[in-house]
Amino acid sequence: MSGTIDIPRRGLMLVLSSPSGAGKTTLSRLLLESDQGITMSVSVTTRPKRPAEVDGRDYHFVTREDFERMVAKGEFLEHATVFGNSYGTLGAPVEAALRLGRDVLFDIDWQGTQQLRQKARNDVVAIFVLPPSRAELERRLHARAQDSEEVVRGRMAKANDEMSHWAEYDYIIINEDMDTALKRVVSILGAERQRRDRLTGLSDFVRTLMKG
Ligand code: 5GP
Repeated sequence: MSGTIDIPRRGLMLVLSSPSGAGKTTLSRLLLESDQGITMSVSVTTRPKRPAEVDGRDYHFVTREDFERMVAKGEFLEHATVFGNSYGTLGAPVEAALRLGRDVLFDIDWQGTQQLRQKARNDVVAIFVLPPSRAELERRLHARAQDSEEVVRGRMAKANDEMSHWAEYDYIIINEDMDTALKRVVSILGAERQRRDRLTGLSDFVRTLMKG
């Protein structure tokens, strides 16, 4: 039986970070397809659009000037430079979602995660996805072949840098098998949704229970 009692709660920010090629993008897509309560945060970036990407869906693609203007206006919850391009998360849509009890999924790097934690520690649940081996990471990066050989080499070199931040995360998932990794993310999300401090409607509910 699925419950009908729906206690009002504040949404949470689910962060997924990993080196490129650890499977984070597929994991995010599967989670979004299987859970209607969570939506993807669409970042702003100065990186050129890849052919398969859609502006406004994958990223908001902007010029450096636009990005700097947004930084100056304080529109970002966090922002960072990754592989020479700027990336940032807009604050307003995230706060609106959290207030409505909707969860937001972030595909951001360790720098962004640190900033989110500083700004909104209680709202952030941070998961780090590790590849099962270095050889597998390299294989996945080559198989993707979206990027040039030079970009792949750069990303392998960056992988150590990214992975060295694993201890700053709440949960670690080793992505050997996508189904298992997804189940782990789903169970983390399920448990975190039940945290007392997110259940803003709980004291009213208990008060009613105790009235007898
Ligand atoms: P890509 O260019 O391959 O889409 O992403 C490159 C890296 O930038 C990934 O590690 C991704 O997690 C990170 N990234 C994407 N959006 C943001 C963002 O808004 N903030 C931060 N800090 N990192 C981001």
